[in-house]
Amino acid sequence: MADKGVEANIQILQAKIEELEEANAKIRKENRAISRKYGTAQMLLERNNVYNASKDKLLATVMAEKERQDKYFNLLLEYTQEIILLLDKNLRFVYCSHVFLRQTGIPDFAMINGREFRDVFRQAAEESAADYMLNILTAAIQNSRAAAVDRIIDIGMKGNPRHYTIHVSPMLNADSVSEGVLMLFQDMTEILNAKEQAEAASRAKSSFLANMSHEIRTPMNAIVGMTELALMETSGMPMLEYLTNIRQAGSNLLSIINDVLDFSKIESGNFQLISAAYSFASLLNNVINVMRVRFSEKAILFLVDVDASLPNSLIGDELRVRQIIFNMMSNAVKYTEKGFVQLAIRGTLLGENSISLTISVTDSGIGIKKQDLGNLFGDFVRLDLNHNRGIEGTGLGLAITKRLCIEMGGDIRVSSVYGTGSVFTAEIIQSFSGKAALAVVELPETKRVLLYDNRRLYSDSVFEILKNLKVPVSRTFDAETFIAELADGIFSFAFFSPDILEQATALIKRSRLKTALVLLADLGEASSFHDIPVITMPAYAVPVANVLNGLTLSKPEKKSPVRFTAPDARVLVVDDIVTNLKVSQGLLLPFQMRVDICETGSKAVALTKTNRYDIILMDHMMPGMDGIETTAAIRALEGDYFKKLPIIALTASAISGMREMFLENGFNDYLSKPIELSRLNEVMEKWIPQSKQRKKQLNAQNDPL
Ligand code: ADP
Repeated sequence: MADKGVEANIQILQAKIEELEEANAKIRKENRAISRKYGTAQMLLERNNVYNASKDKLLATVMAEKERQDKYFNLLLEYTQEIILLLDKNLRFVYCSHVFLRQTGIPDFAMINGREFRDVFRQAAEESAADYMLNILTAAIQNSRAAAVDRIIDIGMKGNPRHYTIHVSPMLNADSVSEGVLMLFQDMTEILNAKEQAEAASRAKSSFLANMSHEIRTPMNAIVGMTELALMETSGMPMLEYLTNIRQAGSNLLSIINDVLDFSKIESGNFQLISAAYSFASLLNNVINVMRVRFSEKAILFLVDVDASLPNSLIGDELRVRQIIFNMMSNAVKYTEKGFVQLAIRGTLLGENSISLTISVTDSGIGIKKQDLGNLFGDFVRLDLNHNRGIEGTGLGLAITKRLCIEMGGDIRVSSVYGTGSVFTAEIIQSFSGKAALAVVELPETKRVLLYDNRRLYSDSVFEILKNLKVPVSRTFDAETFIAELADGIFSFAFFSPDILEQATALIKRSRLKTALVLLADLGEASSFHDIPVITMPAYAVPVANVLNGLTLSKPEKKSPVRFTAPDARVLVVDDIVTNLKVSQGLLLPFQMRVDICETGSKAVALTKTNRYDIILMDHMMPGMDGIETTAAIRALEGDYFKKLPIIALTASAISGMREMFLENGFNDYLSKPIELSRLNEVMEKWIPQSKQRKKQLNAQNDPL
């Protein structure tokens, strides 16, 4: 029995053990699950920690960046010279640049933060300005549109009004509704002052140019005008030649003055070529006549080599072509002390009526250093100033010349050897009409020429000209050979230098030869031999052909300078300078009008009241009443006559726009001084009543010497 009891206990115990083991297994399982969960939790916790750490770091960076940006923004607001205001949509202050605080004396932004624009601004500036800007701000917010206005405001009321351009920009949200407005006051005072100063300087420059040209043109008026008068009174050589040269040199000088004006015109883009038909032969004649005078002052030879077959009737801007040649030639003379200067002109046909002219000027002068060749055509460039001291110049000539060549479809180039000489070559395109050549010799093969000139370069030049004209020529450098060959009597012409003049003329007389003598003489050398035709050196195709064609270079006829006379007309000339009055009086003489003169505006008004003039020539610049005031005073007189009386302005200024200015001021026309006879004729013919004009028959031979 006892055993049974033990057994039972054992069974119970075993059951318990099993139960316990089962519980244990369950606990272990739960333990494992808990362990897993703990692991996961641990991991999450770690991750969280990492995340928290980087979040803090990020936050710190963002804060630092914001601080940095705030700092920059504040720096910007502190140091910007512009007044910048930021207002909310109710126009209350949100931000402002420090200059606004400084200018208005507000110690701290906190004092205006959130305050209304109108309140703050009414204390900071004139009330009217505050109201004005309030309107603009309101409009900008309502229309959601930016605006800019200009206004002079005294911000800070310190008696220092400034000129502001005020920009108002509404700040729009995503729905394009204004959330506020940005105002920027740009202080334009200094810029506008600088602009004003620059404009004043430019005005001063223009008026300086006008004054300069006026100052120079006034005495030039006397020189050119008096020469014109002397020419009318003179018929004999050599006076006629001298006077013609003076007149030419005078108009040359005027063209230099015009150069200065031209340059400023080119600079400001107001330059235009004026195209018209012209005779190439007269252009050359003109340039060579002027240059001869320049050469006569120096011991250098002047040579010309122009292709005789070039067309004579060119179309282009004659004055400017002349200017190009003249500028190159003047430089060559200026920078050459010994040797020669040669002008050569060739042409290449470009089409039926267009030709490219190559004009080259070669000199044996000082030359140009290689390093200077590049910028030679720049404005105001003058080289080697030490070396060239005493040589006058503006440094504008080549700049203008280049510009002119380019305008004429070409260009200019230079080659030079320092110490030896230079060649300037200009190319220009001109149109031409007709087939007439510059110079043609009729039946050249029948005109055999014997040439003697012991000046080698002259001889070469004339020799080439004759060959170019297809004339048979023999030459010698020896006087005896020349006389011996002349005596043969087989030549139609003998060209020779003055050193054997007596021998040659004696031989011709003695042997009754048919050979025509032609003297090759320098300027001034020929006046005492005027029974023999003279070619004044440099010879070139035109005068040589003329002589060979039997057109001896006759003395210019004394010609009547006016197209009509008007003995019944009355004219008043007003000018404060007595010489000018004399010149005008002299120039008017051939019209045979009754001429009154006076020196002041007030006398002119008085004379106009008492006399019936047909025309008044009125100087512009006079002390006291000037020409414009005097004209206004005459126009203001009672009566139709005073309104219609032709009043012509006389001006020594060549600035463009003068004509319009005079017409606006009651003048009918204008004449620039020095008065040119042809312009005077034109003006007189236009304004003197037709009924008083008695027309004259004109001489067709109008060319100068
Ligand atoms: P400038 O009025 O000084 O002569 P240019 O523009 O005509 O002005 O010429 C500019 C410069 O070029 C001159 O100052 C001179 O140094 C140089 N030059 C021009 N032509 C010649 C020449 N034929 N020989 C030597 N130098 C020259």
